[in-house]
Amino acid sequence: MICPRCNREMEAGFVQSGNRMIWTKNKHRFSLLTNHHKGEKQLLPILYWVLPALDAFYCQACDMLIIPKASQYSLE
Ligand SMILES: [Zn+2]
Repeated sequence: MICPRCNREMEAGFVQSGNRMIWTKNKHRFSLLTNHHKGEKQLLPILYWVLPALDAFYCQACDMLIIPKASQYSLE
């Protein structure tokens, strides 16, 4: 994937977290439970004994991280 900011080749890799990860337009203060009616999306769930991963692309040159919309978390 080509970086949309600097047009250099991005590195393929993964985003992982040991905790829930969400996408939201408004910061949550106490809980990361998502509200689908507000368009919020859980990117990574909390799972025990496994660490889920999302396919992602990272640009070392300008620190751009892209997680494609079609990326679904995997457990491998
Ligand atoms: Zn870049």
